[in-house]
Amino acid sequence: MDDAIIRMKNIHKAFGDTHVLKGISMSVRRGEIVSIIGPSGSGKSTLLRCINQLEEINSGEIYVNDCSMHLKSKSQNEMRKKIGMVFQNFNLFPHYKVIENISKPLNVVKKLNKDEAHEIAVDILKKVKLEDKLDEYPAQLSGGQKQRVGIARTIAMGSEIILFDEPTSALDPEIAAEVLSAIKSLADEGFTMVIVTHQINFASEISDRIIFIDEGKICEQGEPEEIIINPKNERTKRFLNAIK
Ligand code: ADP
Ligand code: MG
Repeated sequence: MDDAIIRMKNIHKAFGDTHVLKGISMSVRRGEIVSIIGPSGSGKSTLLRCINQLEEINSGEIYVNDCSMHLKSKSQNEMRKKIGMVFQNFNLFPHYKVIENISKPLNVVKKLNKDEAHEIAVDILKKVKLEDKLDEYPAQLSGGQKQRVGIARTIAMGSEIILFDEPTSALDPEIAAEVLSAIKSLADEGFTMVIVTHQINFASEISDRIIFIDEGKICEQGEPEEIIINPKNERTKRFLNAIK
């Protein structure tokens, strides 16, 4: 794949004796939206964490924008900054106000001055429709609002690639819908997104490609219609039947 922004070759990852990723090879094109589905414990979160360098791989290669993520180089650090992650449990700073959750990292990490950071944070919070919650603390927000702050923070940091790890699994279905709609609006803005989700309908609607992972291996991948409506792999069929 020539226009690949993420390229993974034969990734292996183990925690002690637990061999979690068993030779994953995949590429993601710039602007592509890829959903990863699969049973619990199959290695989906670990895969995202390896892309984002939160976990070190045991073997294989990961390139982002043709830059190897394995070398502890300066350009590798630059690449890492282009990747943002939205977590299942939001990972907000509880003792910071909503606005500070976004402006502080801009100030501290991106070295913007306080006024600039504030201005950008306000703009981005408007985008996710939270302009009336600037001065509240995370504990005062609903789960969906917290997750929208998480998404806003990732965009604010200038990430081109956004990794989502079950962004709605901690939310009630109705609340999940508002988060899914925020994610859809990002899709229209050209971000590259890799989304681990159990929301099959959402994945079908939003994704260019769906990858089914089981026991640390890619079993099947393709366009949503192929995978969801007409899966070929027996394991994929069983998984989809079980979660219907
Ligand atoms: P999924 O996200 O598909 O549910 P995970 O990637 O979270 O799966 O986990 C895959 C396997 O790796 C599980 O058996 C899990 O217990 C194990 N695992 C994940 N993270 C760690 C860790 N930090 N230390 C030890 N084992 C881990
Ligand atoms: Mg997981």
